[in-house]
Amino acid sequence: MIFDIHAHVGHSKYSDNLITAEAVLKVMDSSGIDRAILLPTASTGRYITAQQMKAEVDKAPGRLVGFFSSDVKAKDAVDLFTEAVTKYGAKGIKIHPVYAACAADDEKWVYPLLERAGELKVPVMFHSGEAPYATPWQIGLAAMDFPNTTVILEHMGFDAMCFTDAAIKMAKRSENIILGTTGVMYEFPITKAVNAIGDDRIVYGGEMPMNNPLHEILKVKVAKISDEAKEKILGRNIARILNITI
Ligand SMILES: [Zn+2]
Repeated sequence: MIFDIHAHVGHSKYSDNLITAEAVLKVMDSSGIDRAILLPTASTGRYITAQQMKAEVDKAPGRLVGFFSSDVKAKDAVDLFTEAVTKYGAKGIKIHPVYAACAADDEKWVYPLLERAGELKVPVMFHSGEAPYATPWQIGLAAMDFPNTTVILEHMGFDAMCFTDAAIKMAKRSENIILGTTGVMYEFPITKAVNAIGDDRIVYGGEMPMNNPLHEILKVKVAKISDEAKEKILGRNIARILNITI
C-alpha cells in the first residue's frame, strides 16, 4: 500500500492549466499509488479554497484526502483553517514559507496556526530546505514550541547536505516531528534517518502530478533499511498519523 503525502491541485506557475484531482489520479494509477494527500498549490499565491479542495477529494474519496492552505498573513487565516477542518474535512494544513515570504517560526503568523492545529489534532506540513524562510532549524524551533502539534518537515531538508543533516537532528530532538522524503537529495539520508529516529516518523511523497513519483518511491525501496520500514514509510505511517484505516 503506497500512500503519497505530496500531490497538488490548484493554480501552479509550473502548469498552464488548473491542476485537478483527475491529473493526480492518472499519475497514481500509472505509478501504483493507492492513496494521496492533495495539497493546494502555492506558487501563484492563488490558493484553492477548502470548499474547492473538498470537491476535488470527493472525486475519489477512498483514495484522496485534502489539506488546507491559505495566505498565512491573512487576518482570517486561523478561522479559515478551522472551518476547513471542521466543515470541509481537511486533514491538515500545508505551509510553504518561501512562497508565503514568512519564516517557518514566525510568531505572529505561523504560531497561531500551529497552536490551532494542535487543538484540532491535525498535522502541519512545512515545505523545507530553503533559506531564509524554510530551514530545518526554523521548523525545528516551531515544532519544539508546540510539542502537542504534529509537524511534518517535508522534503527533509531537500537538496543540501547541511539541511538533510539538520532535519534529522531536529527530528531526533523533537518527537512531534515527522520527516517527509519528497525530493530528498539521495537515498542515504532516508537510511540515516531510520538509524537516527527509527522507522515510525518518516513518510514518503512524490510531488505529483508535476513530478514522476517512481524515482521517489525507488529512493525508499533501495534504502538500506528493513522491508517493514519501507512499508511503513511508503504508506502505513501516514495512515496512522492521519487516523485512516487501511
Ligand atoms: Zn509540492
